[in-house]
Amino acid sequence: MVNLDNYLAIKAEAEASNAQLISVSKTKPEPDIISLYEQGCKVFGENKAQELETKAETLPKDIQWHMIGHLQRNKVKYMAAYVYMIHGVDSLRLAEEIDKQASIYNRTIKILLQVHIAQEDAKFGFAADELKTLAMAGDIQKLKHLEVCGLMGMATNTNDQDQIRKEFQSLKDLHSELAPQFGTNWKEISMGMSGDYKIALECGSTLIRVGSRIFGTRE
Ligand SMILES: *Cc1c(COP(=O)(O)O)cnc(C)c1O
Repeated sequence: MVNLDNYLAIKAEAEASNAQLISVSKTKPEPDIISLYEQGCKVFGENKAQELETKAETLPKDIQWHMIGHLQRNKVKYMAAYVYMIHGVDSLRLAEEIDKQASIYNRTIKILLQVHIAQEDAKFGFAADELKTLAMAGDIQKLKHLEVCGLMGMATNTNDQDQIRKEFQSLKDLHSELAPQFGTNWKEISMGMSGDYKIALECGSTLIRVGSRIFGTRE
């Protein structure tokens, strides 16, 4: 069940911090998305390429689709025509494939570079040092069909608020540090989910990705 009150409250909190809310609709059926759309929500997040493709093909065309999950190179082709922003770019090779697929549709796709900020090792993303090297090398900035807009990260799944704050702060600091290597598009920091979006907003998030607080728990 969609919780409209939560949606409106979280959207207001995001806007008060000059951030945008991405409603994470992964695994949720199209009628749930439509009911939010009818309240004015046009920004949704998915984490599977084919699910994003199917939903983008059938749902209203003015929806902005964000790919927030881990993306394999061979899946880029399914969403290249539809996706507005890809959050989880964690290698130059993936960026090159997105660039190639975007060129086929004669479009530009916005991307975020995912950084590993959590203590858990299961999460994807660049190490900070790796990313600094990539930024200095300059290859990713040359890809014509990409706009490199900033960073994305996920904090450790913990109740330790100080730990989460430290991790989000490190992403914010890295974003500032890398800014000279990127152009005017470099303005997004995608961090914060249902459990930690308030901390993320305090730490300078510009894009919060909230699913279960809006759509209810997933199977
Ligand atoms: C599922 C998911 C979210 C949303 O998670 P909730 O805890 O349901 O808000 C955010 N970001 C990513 C990368 C996700 O995969």
